[in-house]
Amino acid sequence: MVKIGIMGLTGCSGCQCEILNCEEAIYRLIEKVEISYFPLAQDNNSFGEFEILFVEGSVTTEEDERKVKEGRERAKFLVAVGSCACYGGVQSQRNDEASLEEMLLAVYGRKELPVKVQKPRAVSEVVKVDYELPGCPLDKRQFVYAVASILNGVKPFFPKIPVCHE
Ligand code: SF4
Repeated sequence: MVKIGIMGLTGCSGCQCEILNCEEAIYRLIEKVEISYFPLAQDNNSFGEFEILFVEGSVTTEEDERKVKEGRERAKFLVAVGSCACYGGVQSQRNDEASLEEMLLAVYGRKELPVKVQKPRAVSEVVKVDYELPGCPLDKRQFVYAVASILNGVKPFFPKIPVCHE
């Protein structure tokens, strides 16, 4: 069985929810693939080897960076899903506007958080990305198309679309 992983980094989880909305298509896919890692949606997860690892969210914390680097080592194909993963997302707009300390103070009233926060980066700035599915969120049909294409040895083509769409 072909193993697929769905990993969440820093984002709103909207892209992962969109994947869950695939419903009927997911049932059909499950006949051919095993979603072995999807912490947002299931309790039993195996962080083993993946044919395809989908990554949502920007690389914003040290934990994000560790996870995505480890995922890259284990994945034959790594696909960035959504504008956070492809471009850094809304959170990356703070990169040139103010210091991290200023932002933390404005939002949380303190200069530190329990997690180590970095400058938000697109996934491709940290590891090699094979394909990108932009959109905020991605279109669930892109996810199904990507899985079907990659499993059939066809390079998927994803047109660039605006950050927000219906
Ligand atoms: Fe959420 Fe949009 Fe980022 Fe997806 S791309 S995680 S929907 S903010």
